Amino acid sequence: MAKIAVEKQSRSLIGEALIKEGLLTPEQLERALRIQKHLEQQRQLGEVLIELGYATKQSIRDAINKHGAGMRIGDMLVEQGLITQDQLTQALHMHKDNGVKVGAALIELGAINERTLLQNLASQARVPYIEPVFAMIEAPVLAGISPEYLDKNLFVPFSKSEDGRVTVIVNDPKDEDTLHAVQDLFKGRFDIAVGPKDAIRQTIEDYRRFRTERAGDGRKPAVTTQEDSIIQLVEHIISSAVDDRASDIHIEPMSDKIRLRFRIDGVLVYKTDLPRDLLPRINSRIKVMAECNITEHQRHQGGRFFFKIGQREYDLRLSIYVTVHGESIVMRILNKQSGIVGLEALGMSPSMRERFRADVLDAPTGVVLITGPTGSGKTTTLYSSLEYSNTIDTKIITAEDPVEYMIDGIIQCSIFDKIGRSFESTLREIVRQDPDIIVLGEIRDKVTAETAIQAALTGHKVYSTFHTEDTIGGLLRLIDMQIETFLISSTVISVIAQRLLRRICSLCTAPYTPTQQEIERVGLNVEDVRELELKKGRGCKTCNYTGYFGRIAVYELLILNEDVKEAILAKRPAHVIRRISTETTGLVSMREDGIAKVVRGFTTFEEVLSQTPRTFETRPLRQILQMTQ
Ligand SMILES: [Zn+2]
Repeated sequence: MAKIAVEKQSRSLIGEALIKEGLLTPEQLERALRIQKHLEQQRQLGEVLIELGYATKQSIRDAINKHGAGMRIGDMLVEQGLITQDQLTQALHMHKDNGVKVGAALIELGAINERTLLQNLASQARVPYIEPVFAMIEAPVLAGISPEYLDKNLFVPFSKSEDGRVTVIVNDPKDEDTLHAVQDLFKGRFDIAVGPKDAIRQTIEDYRRFRTERAGDGRKPAVTTQEDSIIQLVEHIISSAVDDRASDIHIEPMSDKIRLRFRIDGVLVYKTDLPRDLLPRINSRIKVMAECNITEHQRHQGGRFFFKIGQREYDLRLSIYVTVHGESIVMRILNKQSGIVGLEALGMSPSMRERFRADVLDAPTGVVLITGPTGSGKTTTLYSSLEYSNTIDTKIITAEDPVEYMIDGIIQCSIFDKIGRSFESTLREIVRQDPDIIVLGEIRDKVTAETAIQAALTGHKVYSTFHTEDTIGGLLRLIDMQIETFLISSTVISVIAQRLLRRICSLCTAPYTPTQQEIERVGLNVEDVRELELKKGRGCKTCNYTGYFGRIAVYELLILNEDVKEAILAKRPAHVIRRISTETTGLVSMREDGIAKVVRGFTTFEEVLSQTPRTFETRPLRQILQMTQ
């Protein structure tokens, strides 16, 4: 009886939290609850909401983080899909039988890692989650405290607010001994944060080593002031983002803390919180680096600066956005070197790569379109294609907005409207430069499309990118732009659509059995998949406990044949063009390419489902594997 009551309560709590955030309407909640009640198999409300398209994993997580204070930790974890109901039940039994804490039991069962658990415990207790590193600590708060004392009581002071309150990181906020020791030291003038045990121990160890080294060498300059500490903290944030291969650093003020997140492999990864009162100092420091106005707090600002780590210099773009909780900072790390890879590294299956080389790259004329949303790796495919053709007897010329990577031997031009170097004027001039290959950064309107087609008609090879969901969508967009269908069918030789999927981290792989639901959603036969040995990342330090490291592209390579050209000429509907392409050109959909990459151990069904467009039909597994050899 009691268990049912708890479940009911958590159900309405998550629904209410989403409604409070304006992410769900009461009608939607009611509908979802009704559907949930009628399901044959019991499913979590969160899952039902996602399935109905009313919520995303992220929105549920955000809502729970903000309004989850009244929820039990186990229910919070289940609602987010971090653990299953079975695992929770098992942990509750262990708690009842041996008195182990539910959280510890879940870790022991391998259901969750310590960090994810602590992050949730912290948001439940409404305290920051801080993963300390010695370089981040404000040195003066350690003055006069021995590492041995910290080690014995397992806590570490982190920083001091202007009114003298010290933020102290503990592993277990309910441990009496630790709290007594903290109380003895700071006499009630402290705030608690929660952090992982190994990070706290490592910080204390680094502090101990730092003290001994300083004792041995009096000349060594030590960080002792608050100001120096902030400089060091900001430097640490940037260099750890670079270490993590992050593309963006997000420093977000919230009502009671600062949240630090990195975008890694296209996904935001929660790194740590920081005490709220550090915000003005961190922001001033970053503004100084980017030469922004440090006295301005009311307007949005932008800036740019260079940051050196060892021999390498990083280019950082800064955006400061004024929010209700203060200035929020995003820094984009631009990395000029990482864009160009060889054809082999693009991630095409060997057979697709061969067709791509023979029928697309080696074709002397025609239009090649690379399509996909922003951040799907189009530029990498484009530049690798150019690099392949970049020989002494080929003239390649580009009109880009702006040039993203520089390649030796290619004539690259950035569009610059402000000074009159517009796209139109560039397009007029480009053909007169006597090129063999022309690159138009993006087909954005009818004029660009016509330029590309005209250039192809006069014997050039043209590459461009497009924003459409898949290859057939690219063809239809051209038709929608009122381009004559005979021009499309006589110039376009290939359309390539792509997405980036996260790669399984090779350091923490573990066997994995997908659920029946997952298998059915990708369109495969359950029996076929159950025979396979699939893997998944469990999460480790290297992959930031995500289970993923780096990305791999999935492709849909359409090479137009006579049948497809005729279908375009006749303006057949999308599904007909798709069917003809699938049946006559050997077109493999991005979803199918993704499935093959799951079977070969590169990625997971979860990634395939969230990143690739739904196709109407998936071929049987055996056939997919054959076609992607
Ligand atoms: Zn890993």
